[in-house]
Amino acid sequence: MEIGINIDRAKLLISETKLNLKSENIQLSDSRGRILSKGLASKVNDPRFDNSAMDGWAVKEADCKSNKNTVLKIIGSIQAGSREITSLHRGEACKITTGAPIPDGADAIVIVEDSKTEGENVIISGPARKTFIRKKGENLSKGNEALPKGSYMTAAAISLAATMGHDMVTVYKRPIIGIISTGDELVMPNSEIQDYQIYESNSFGISALVEKMGGKPIRYDLVTDSVDHLRKVLNSAAKECDLLITSGGVSMGDWDIVRKIMEEEGDIVFWKVKMRPGGPPLYGKWKNKPIFGLPGNPVSSHLVFLILVCPWFSYTYGIKETEMPNLGQKVRVKMNDEVRGAKDKICLRRIRIISGSNGLEATVHTHQGSGNIHSMVAHNGITLLPEDTSAKTGDIIDAFWFN
Ligand code: AMP
Ligand code: MG
Repeated sequence: MEIGINIDRAKLLISETKLNLKSENIQLSDSRGRILSKGLASKVNDPRFDNSAMDGWAVKEADCKSNKNTVLKIIGSIQAGSREITSLHRGEACKITTGAPIPDGADAIVIVEDSKTEGENVIISGPARKTFIRKKGENLSKGNEALPKGSYMTAAAISLAATMGHDMVTVYKRPIIGIISTGDELVMPNSEIQDYQIYESNSFGISALVEKMGGKPIRYDLVTDSVDHLRKVLNSAAKECDLLITSGGVSMGDWDIVRKIMEEEGDIVFWKVKMRPGGPPLYGKWKNKPIFGLPGNPVSSHLVFLILVCPWFSYTYGIKETEMPNLGQKVRVKMNDEVRGAKDKICLRRIRIISGSNGLEATVHTHQGSGNIHSMVAHNGITLLPEDTSAKTGDIIDAFWFN
């Protein structure tokens, strides 16, 4: 077991336990937020055929060069979805709508605003442009793998998949993540509460984070600070889940039962990471399943999730941390308030980032204690202050901006 390591080392150790996620075929219409486990190649060219980008007239460019008022004979009209007019000769024009196929022989489009019809003729008063023809395959050629394995299905990616002719996609099965909150002081929100108790919140927030990262959370019933109770829940979670996440009980105290049980019966890979808040996280294996022990303080558990559990998802999907799904992005911000760093640890102060006229700027609004989950709502980002470094007003620093 390694103790008190830096974030990069922790991430390297996490990346060494690879999970082989299974795949499933799902309807394209159900795929938003899913990750392709098999690349998608186009079944067609895009555009499928040369077509007009404008409503107007299909013409021969050479016919329209001579003077400003060219008279062309109308041979008919063609709209998107039809193929009535198949060829055009010199001196002729064919009315055309956006998306309609270009008749053979036509090589340019005149927009409708630059024309006037007179009986059987059209008088062209503006330019005939070749660029108003969308050429077959100029966006994608048949066989192009425009959505490779690892692609995150956004609204645009879903449209692209349909454009390419797919109505089903192969995606990673959502990893099943067991979430176990520990602590004698915890009671469920809206239940009867004594003076010495608090409402349990972490399992709710962590479940939401798991969903954002594409996992399927299972929230287990509260576990009291009893090793026997915890063992029972861990054992059943290990059977049902791909990853276990506990909250609370990883510090040095006598009642820190997650650390205790992992020391005695589990397999700890590392404990304590040089970050603040969130110092005492634990990572290892329980019954051969990866397990993160997150600290109980609500801000700490959220930030350890961001710093260590999000990368676990990225490694599992085989994508970069900067690719979706993620919780946001690394940015540079100008501090409009002072923030204190931490000795020997990366310091994650909550900040509110706004896009100002000279770039991103950040301010501080609430008490920064690791027990104050309101600080994660009142702010939309965190500092990434290197160890032993504070920031003064006006300093430009690394930060993470939540999306
Ligand atoms: P622990 O990590 O168990 O020492 O807990 C640290 C702090 O976080 C204590 O003040 C706990 O009461 C609080 N805490 C622990 N678990 C939770 C939870 N699931 N929801 C809200 N607060 C918690
Ligand atoms: Mg506790």
